[in-house]
Amino acid sequence: MNFDSSPIAAIATAPGRGGIGVVRVSGKNISSIVEAVCATKGAELQPRHATFTNFVNADGSVIDQGLALYFKAPHSYTGEDVLELQGHGGPVVLQMLLTRCLEAGADIGLRMAQPGEFTHRAFLNDKLDLAQAEGVIDLIEASTEAAAKSASQSLSGAFSKTIQELVDKITNLRMLVEATLDFPEEEIDFLEKSDARGQLTGIREALQAVFAQASQGALLRDGLNIVLAGQPNVGKSSLLNALAGSDVAIVTAIAGTTRDKVIETIQIEGIPVNVIDTAGIRDASDATDEVERIGIERTWAAVKTADVIIHMLDASRGPTRADEQIVERFPENIPVMRIWNKIDLSGHRPAIDRMPDSTHIYVSATDLQGMDLLRGELLRLIGWQQTGESLYLARERHLIALKAAHDHLEIAAQHAAHDSEATDPALDLFAEELRLAQERLSSITGEFTSDDLLGVIFSRFCIGK
Ligand code: GDP
Ligand code: ZN
Repeated sequence: MNFDSSPIAAIATAPGRGGIGVVRVSGKNISSIVEAVCATKGAELQPRHATFTNFVNADGSVIDQGLALYFKAPHSYTGEDVLELQGHGGPVVLQMLLTRCLEAGADIGLRMAQPGEFTHRAFLNDKLDLAQAEGVIDLIEASTEAAAKSASQSLSGAFSKTIQELVDKITNLRMLVEATLDFPEEEIDFLEKSDARGQLTGIREALQAVFAQASQGALLRDGLNIVLAGQPNVGKSSLLNALAGSDVAIVTAIAGTTRDKVIETIQIEGIPVNVIDTAGIRDASDATDEVERIGIERTWAAVKTADVIIHMLDASRGPTRADEQIVERFPENIPVMRIWNKIDLSGHRPAIDRMPDSTHIYVSATDLQGMDLLRGELLRLIGWQQTGESLYLARERHLIALKAAHDHLEIAAQHAAHDSEATDPALDLFAEELRLAQERLSSITGEFTSDDLLGVIFSRFCIGK
């Protein structure tokens, strides 16, 4: 991705129709665009005030009317001069407005923004750090309220602040160690006098706590992927409805006529749960057209990434030969959970039975017996522990960095140990591991982050953000 510093423009609102749509422009010298498009002198737009105006073509004809907002650098989202034009939210009229802006800005090099480029500029201009920038997109993409809350924690800088506190503690300890390195005769005393080991233990404990919180938060982001398998009429759709707590799938009493959506996202305690109902997946070779074939292949690809396969059976009828064939189709490395449904008919009691081959759970999807057992087991499976604390919506990247920092601190602790007279603590190595730990932590907020990684992160944003 090629980011230069020329002014950029994009439609900032979602594609489709809506009450209001926004075209956003950011960069230097954009007052000429204000003058041209809003038919007004740039100076007349008071920064951060809404001005009702016509948006006009070069010949003076009106494209739309709406509000113009002007933000003077550095007091804007990107840290540059920003112009936001709020017009009517139709795809055509917004495209006309954008085209007009690009035309009016041709002489100052105005171009279309790339995905995430506004936020990338905000990062480069220190309006937010990398973890906060990731919070922006995670908030937009959040699929449950709990995920949105956690993303907003990251966006507000709470996660970054926690990381920064760890970095500061390590920096202090490094300064102590490095000062001592200049006076070798005092090395051995130093660790005792400054309680360097105690400080290191404190930092390691704090890091562990952050890691625990971040990995719980990562669950809110990534959720749980379930495959729901079983013969027609065992109650798959009913189970989905019971889990979701509302009617999301179509329940039918006639075998084989189920018209469930193939992948359904529900939530359990705020965790997004993606359920693939295999009733909807046929063999790709049965597909009647290309679109359907691609859909089927995608679904099978999703099956391979499932955390668990739920094999559902009718407890009032017992397993059949068809059930054996069902499980044969699934990847071997994914754990299978057996749900025995309709215990209201069979007379079983709601129960969970952890057998060596798989966990068996006895439920009734219609009168909801045993549903809490099932929910608890699903959450247990992905390691969800309900905590009262607000979580950071961490990403894989953050978890890897936290883990690496943790490992460096562990090696540092080994260098600081001196069990026998023969091995003096290796202070220089101790200091080096501290430095490495600090570097890994700082990569979370984007210090020492390569342009390539930044490119990858921001390119996943939507255009106009
Ligand atoms: P699917 O084909 O596996 O998705 O099965 P459905 O969810 O469409 O259910 C098939 C039929 O079984 C419907 O008439 C449901 O009302 C009924 N059913 C589902 N779960 C239960 C249950 O736990 N107890 C009883 N008595 N009937 C159920
Ligand atoms: Zn169904």
